[in-house]
Amino acid sequence: MNAETTGSQQLLKESNRMSLVRQLCAQPGLSRADLASAVGLTKSTVSLLTRDLIAEGWLQEREVVATGDLGRRPTPLFIDPGRLLLLGAELDIESARVVATSLTGEVRAHAVANYGAGKSPKTCIAGLAAALLKLRRQLDADAHRIIGIGVGLPGGVDEARGILNFAPNLHWRDVPVGELLRDKLAGTALAEVPLFLQNEADVAALGELEFNPQPGDPLLYLSINQGVGAGVVVGGRLLTGSRGFAGEVGHMVLQLGGPLCSCGRRGCAEALIGPRAMLGLEPDTTPHAPMGELRERLEAGDAATAKAVRKAGNYLGMLLQNLASAYDPASIVIGGAVLELGDAFLQPALQTLAEYAAAARLEPPAVRVSAWGADAVAVGAAALARYRLTRPLLPALGGDEA
Ligand SMILES: [Zn+2]
Repeated sequence: MNAETTGSQQLLKESNRMSLVRQLCAQPGLSRADLASAVGLTKSTVSLLTRDLIAEGWLQEREVVATGDLGRRPTPLFIDPGRLLLLGAELDIESARVVATSLTGEVRAHAVANYGAGKSPKTCIAGLAAALLKLRRQLDADAHRIIGIGVGLPGGVDEARGILNFAPNLHWRDVPVGELLRDKLAGTALAEVPLFLQNEADVAALGELEFNPQPGDPLLYLSINQGVGAGVVVGGRLLTGSRGFAGEVGHMVLQLGGPLCSCGRRGCAEALIGPRAMLGLEPDTTPHAPMGELRERLEAGDAATAKAVRKAGNYLGMLLQNLASAYDPASIVIGGAVLELGDAFLQPALQTLAEYAAAARLEPPAVRVSAWGADAVAVGAAALARYRLTRPLLPALGGDEA
């Protein structure tokens, strides 16, 4: 048997193993026989694979409660919530936020590294590595094994090569984030753990797909921070587009000849909805903690700010209407720092969306806010690791083929 055959057989075996894991993520409590018919493998193959998956910490058996005359019922299998963990990180403009989660998305530990705005990629990535290692030390090394690290980045990502192509709000271009982070983790407890990178809105969408029991499909995750972007999941897959730009909805144009955007165009959604628009700032400025400032002005009863926030909310409603027309989503999830503004921002958006729907005599699409709040991207990055590890045949996007 040559090496290539062995390699493809191993990949096939891993694909079969992970199809069992995915099935139990979606349908906890199936027996071995249920699993065999659900994924199309023989019962003996499923028995062999589940034995290994239980030994490695992916799955666990739970005792069946004896019920008199029904006889012995088959043992239900579940994803093990304790032994294998995922690390997820959000690399943001001023700080990195890191979480450890179970395979089913329960957050087990948190860490944050504040490096401040305007720092070099090396400094920010050193801060991120330190936060990941701090989190590792908080966990019991004997009881927990970390099987994947995901990182959400504020820009377009070449996932296959681990490169952040362009992050306008960080002013970074072509940064080899994967290589820099690997260098920082070399020789540590995390050196050999598989690493996955993707855009922040994309990972947050994967957080909904992987960890929310009822994600809805198609699913749109709209992330509103200094930048505005969306992650789009269609048919259980992340939609990234031919060059990785799918979901860059912050640069959908909503107003002809409108205000200048950070991308150089005029009238983009980001220039009408983002915090710079609400604060009346130029597109090349990077405000420090803009949401705090907006909240203070709103609480102080500043009428001009209230009007600007309402107008931004109306434009968000217009963006949601355009996205609903493009994708007919089963659910739209909104996340990001802008949620700190609460109803002052969201109510005008939902009202605008409802008015567009009513005019066409349709029901407006279902909109909800992220259940993970400020951790949505970090938890989503952990979900990216699960998404990739449990789909070994799915090619990473980007690189020369893209
Ligand atoms: Zn733009």
